Amino acid sequence: MTKKNLLKLNLNELKNEFKKNNIKGFRAEQVFNWIYRNGIVEFPKMSNLPRVLINELTEKYEINDLNLNKKLIAKDGTQKYLWKTNDNNLVESVFLPYEDKNRYSICVSSQIGCSIGCEFCATGIDGLKRDLSVSEIIEQILKIQIDVSKERYGSPKITNIVFMGMGEPFLNYDNVMKAVSILNDEKGLNIGMRKITISTSGIIEKIKTLAENNQQIGLAISLNAPNNQLRNKLMPINKKYNLDKLMEAVNYYIRKTNRRVTFEYVLMEGINDHEIHAEQLIKILKNKLVHVNLIPANPVPELDIKKPHQGVAKYFKNRLEDNDISATIRVEKGTNIKAACGQLRASYQNGG
Ligand code: SAH
Ligand code: SF4
Repeated sequence: MTKKNLLKLNLNELKNEFKKNNIKGFRAEQVFNWIYRNGIVEFPKMSNLPRVLINELTEKYEINDLNLNKKLIAKDGTQKYLWKTNDNNLVESVFLPYEDKNRYSICVSSQIGCSIGCEFCATGIDGLKRDLSVSEIIEQILKIQIDVSKERYGSPKITNIVFMGMGEPFLNYDNVMKAVSILNDEKGLNIGMRKITISTSGIIEKIKTLAENNQQIGLAISLNAPNNQLRNKLMPINKKYNLDKLMEAVNYYIRKTNRRVTFEYVLMEGINDHEIHAEQLIKILKNKLVHVNLIPANPVPELDIKKPHQGVAKYFKNRLEDNDISATIRVEKGTNIKAACGQLRASYQNGG
């Protein structure tokens, strides 16, 4: 009998699951508390449970879909985790500490590989293997929280989650949203909706669904090109959802939620970093409730992508700000361990 992973259940579902096995509701609360509040994922260590119950839980359930395969620590404190799934695939997540701001972020993966195949991104090179399950998404965060906790569990506390790891989160929408709701539970990790950001290449149906559900979650759009011709080339998804359709969905989202949308623009030398591109970007985004995150491209050995020289990002930022569009330049982190956005590529064919 395959054991059920408890991390895919929210507290109510856990109560129902236990009820089916004649286990009392308060036991579900205790187990939930052990897992999320104490970082205890082994049943025998749940010290207020009776021995018979521990045996029963061990027989029927598990809390282990990811096993640590490798951990890399960068000079700047960024940590990359490589996990092995039960079916021998590799998944990556990144821990990004910003100690001065008391912000501890995790960049999580939503899929193994990615089907979108953007020209500048390492994740898409081998296509999509499969979606991650709810428990595989949650386990990335839970296990990193356990790993980084120093004197006591939950210190430092993971404060932010960004779905900017491997995969297109909106092509695994249901699992991602279920994981988000469990991570948000105040009896669990209690990570605020406003501290969770989903980045998408622009799956417009899901942008609209998110708008209708009106959750407080942050939305980021990977734009990367300010005209259809270039975007078709860099991000093939644009052939299905062109810039007009994308911006119509974003406008709808802003109208419905009154929330600011972030646009990510990866600056690539000689590709999308010309003055004309800055002007086209302004034209698309002017007078909208948006923020632009300018990301100097990270090198990907397999792809001929380079970041432009330093002045370019500054130039884009100035031009955007001259037009009252707020913009920041992303601080590079974890580059020496290839932990930065677009560099995650846990190869699943050869296990390395
Ligand atoms: N699939 C989603 C989320 C994961 S990609 C999306 O595309 O939004 C997360 C971010 O990494 C995206 O903004 C993407 O544009 C960026 N990215 C991809 N390749 C990159 C590279 N080589 N350098 C810098 N950023 C990159
Ligand atoms: Fe997939 Fe995002 Fe990479 Fe494009 S940038 S290939 S959508 S992970």
